[in-house]
Amino acid sequence: MDPKLIRNFSIIAHIDHGKSTLADQLLLQSGTITEREFHSQILDDLEIEKERGITVKARSVTIDYKKDGQTYELNLIDTPGHVDFHYEVNRSLAACEGALLLIDAFQGVQAQTVANAYAAIEVDLEIVPVVNKIDLQVIRVEEVLEEVENILGLDASEALRVSAKTGLNVDTVFDAIISKIPPPSGSPDKPLKALVFDSKFDKYRGVVTYVRMVDGVIRKGDNIRFMRENVNSEVIEIGQFRPGLVPCKELGPGQVGYVLTGVKELSRITVGDTVTMANNPAEAPLPGYQKPKQMVFCGMYPLDATGFESLRDELQKLSLNDSSFSFQPETSDALGFGFRCGFLGMLHMEIVQQRLEREQDMDLIQTAPNVTYEILTKSGKTMVIDNPQDVPDPSQIDEFREPIAKVSFIVPAENVGTIMQLSQDRRGIYKNTEFLGPTRAQVVYELPLSEIVYDMYDKLKSVTRGYGTMDYEIIGYTAADLVKMDILVKGEQVDALSTIVHRSTADRRGRALVKRLKTEINKHQFEIAIQAAIGGKIIARETISAFRKNVTAKCYGGDISRKRKLLEKQKEGKKRMKQFGAVEIPQKAFLSVLEAN
Ligand code: GDP
Ligand code: MG
Repeated sequence: MDPKLIRNFSIIAHIDHGKSTLADQLLLQSGTITEREFHSQILDDLEIEKERGITVKARSVTIDYKKDGQTYELNLIDTPGHVDFHYEVNRSLAACEGALLLIDAFQGVQAQTVANAYAAIEVDLEIVPVVNKIDLQVIRVEEVLEEVENILGLDASEALRVSAKTGLNVDTVFDAIISKIPPPSGSPDKPLKALVFDSKFDKYRGVVTYVRMVDGVIRKGDNIRFMRENVNSEVIEIGQFRPGLVPCKELGPGQVGYVLTGVKELSRITVGDTVTMANNPAEAPLPGYQKPKQMVFCGMYPLDATGFESLRDELQKLSLNDSSFSFQPETSDALGFGFRCGFLGMLHMEIVQQRLEREQDMDLIQTAPNVTYEILTKSGKTMVIDNPQDVPDPSQIDEFREPIAKVSFIVPAENVGTIMQLSQDRRGIYKNTEFLGPTRAQVVYELPLSEIVYDMYDKLKSVTRGYGTMDYEIIGYTAADLVKMDILVKGEQVDALSTIVHRSTADRRGRALVKRLKTEINKHQFEIAIQAAIGGKIIARETISAFRKNVTAKCYGGDISRKRKLLEKQKEGKKRMKQFGAVEIPQKAFLSVLEAN
């Protein structure tokens, strides 16, 4: 394949601005898929993506496009737009020469439009602005283009105007891809160099490695080497995503495809690695990727002890497909053997948990998430804390540090005051405000990560009636007056319920948490005291009184079917319970911390 006829590009945008729809439209108009297949977003093939309508994993697809008697090979990499998935976006960008920057014709530039555009600018991609959804009744294209120029500094004069849904003007997208995005460079005669930009585990084929070719040619039967891991393996099959796996004879410079090898161990193939030829290796590997930093941690425990090994297997499989989360065995007095898992953010955590439960059919108890802290001990040691249980005795702590994020909000001008109040209440430090146009502004704050990961997004949505968006990046750690708050149930500390809080909010949070727990834990035959404590000092208390009657007593003995229903309901509820001493604590209680702010 002549590299001059290849174009590698991504579609980047704020969530819901139409990336997946445009991707499908490109597939449809190029004949890669049929009208029938177009009906729903075919690149979003994870069950959870279909359900939530968001793209979680970046996807790749090869499109043949005929123009002026030539057949071009367009490799499209679909990306997720949510703040938690920057890592996926950055990986996709490294495999491309250009990007279509999609902007909703009504909503305009949003927080992730800015973040994704900057990421593309940083790696020198050619950016083609595309205003989407021009079929909508109410649009404000001119203002949107002004925003593109003002806040992104891009030339908007040649921006495209399309409807991904109806297909209107989508031909101009093909033209722009071919005329504006540069073809890849690279030589077939140099030693093989290909970037591993993704991988996944397929039940039938084993490990599928996604590669972007840089130099050299790869064929079936070649003996290749994964440079970083130093593993050699024979190529069993190579092919392209069309959009299913379709084998091909060879992959040359600039092409994007997949490689099946004999490598069985999931952990041996790492994203960002370089593939080369075993008998004629490249001198140095490609730069690869920066490891993503997990910022939110929680415990995941199998519902019963026998599930531990299978949970380990499933986590391992999932981590091959999503290298941005981490897991390590841990034990809890309350929950037994489980794993401490690290995520890029809260949405990421939810998605991993749901994928485990849906795709792998696991029943899990998940503990409340926390961010990563640093503690400088009196003996001069720096500890990284990703579990409140690891916080040493206060007498040992010299400095307690928390991660700080630079947060940019894009909100309607009339909401600027509210956002400032919201940030101020959460210990934010004001940075600046910039107007995108007459009606919208970008407000920048530095905020403790712990104050934004839980519910900032929801709060923002509610105060701006859905019009506000936010994005954040971690800028470092600073010292703060933090303490570990413990929870005692019937006089005994439940380790998995401990949290780290700022001293100024400890009383309020403690009271809110015990109140919340009171509603989550069912009545038992005896009275249960729920207490919050800091360093042994009780700061809040609630009591769950003992229940008197048998549950079925409510049914007045008569109605059998109602009685059965009630018992079944109870059984279902039990599924997610964990026995702690004599007290049963439901899964939901472990997440109470989130709602008790
Ligand atoms: P993504 O999150 O960027 O991948 O966005 P999607 O492609 O999932 O689209 C989000 C929503 O916008 C879906 O309901 C689409 O049907 C809708 N949408 C996408 N493109 C258009 C368009 O050109 N016009 C209209 N009216 N709706 C669109
Ligand atoms: Mg999508």
